[in-house]
Amino acid sequence: MAGHFLLSPSARNFTIKTVEKMSAEKVHALFAEIRWGGSGKQTCPMCGSINNHYYLKSRRQWRCREKGCCTSFSVTSGTKFADHKLSLKMILMGMVLYTTNVKGISASAMSRTLGVAYMTAFTLLHKLRESIMENADKAPLDELIHIDGAHVSGRKRKPRVKVKNAKYQARDKLPFSDDDQHANRRIVMVMRQVDPSGGTGSIRTIVEVVRAENAEWAKKLAVKYINKGATVMTDESPAYSEFMARYNHQTVNHSNMFSTDDGVNNNQAESFFARMRRMVIGQVHRVTPKYMLDYVSEVAWREDVRRTPTSVQVRGLLGMSLKKRSKWWRGYWQGYHRAEEIMFV
Ligand SMILES: [Zn+2]
Repeated sequence: MAGHFLLSPSARNFTIKTVEKMSAEKVHALFAEIRWGGSGKQTCPMCGSINNHYYLKSRRQWRCREKGCCTSFSVTSGTKFADHKLSLKMILMGMVLYTTNVKGISASAMSRTLGVAYMTAFTLLHKLRESIMENADKAPLDELIHIDGAHVSGRKRKPRVKVKNAKYQARDKLPFSDDDQHANRRIVMVMRQVDPSGGTGSIRTIVEVVRAENAEWAKKLAVKYINKGATVMTDESPAYSEFMARYNHQTVNHSNMFSTDDGVNNNQAESFFARMRRMVIGQVHRVTPKYMLDYVSEVAWREDVRRTPTSVQVRGLLGMSLKKRSKWWRGYWQGYHRAEEIMFV
């Protein structure tokens, strides 16, 4: 394909205008089709009976005929958008904004673009991230894999004023290495299966959050997510010192080069972090450990669908969000918050 994907027609085949032109019925039909398939048969979320209901057109609801059930349900019952206040059309527009802003969109920007409350945009965005996280394909990777880890959050503040002879000055970038024991320090580990012919870059991405980039965690991740015998490329960090036994392990010394003369590199892992950092710097600003996996899962998904037509991305996102209820974002603004951070164990 010539040219950049984002400049091609399929990158703009599902836009705000597309949604605007759709009637409320059409949007509703799209939700129903993606949730239950094209057969026109609905499954009752209460009792699981299929197609034994009647449709209340004025309310856009179905009522179950099953004895002892008799529940009314809508296209969003039992999904991320159960009890939604936004119209389905607005939700769909939110999804278009989410997919087309390839480095992510902030709740404040979405609120101002859609004309909805900040809290509404915030919750919608987090529900989309939750859907992505729940549906991440974590089947083991094979053939050629690039791995790397990056330090995220947990840094000391810069000094406010310049102090003579101090190790760091107010203008300095504080190195992560200087702050090893910070309580909020986490490592994001990325594993990417790469096209061995080199033509199309990364094929699939798995991310996890761990406490340290060391041999113990690297091994646990590798055993779970990388098939034995695969070729694994990393930098020369001691974290990967035990990989020789299980994989064809090749390393690149990053203090000298990004890629060896033989083409050994972990550039796809590096490029993941480059994009993640841009999203954090330009848009998220701060990632706390509690919601770190949410954000990095978003980056992984964006990377994996980077050349997928927008219509397919939006339908995919809608499909993921219609599978299950939200675990963490119902009642967030009423004070119900996730208790634990999500880390790889
Ligand atoms: Zn039922």
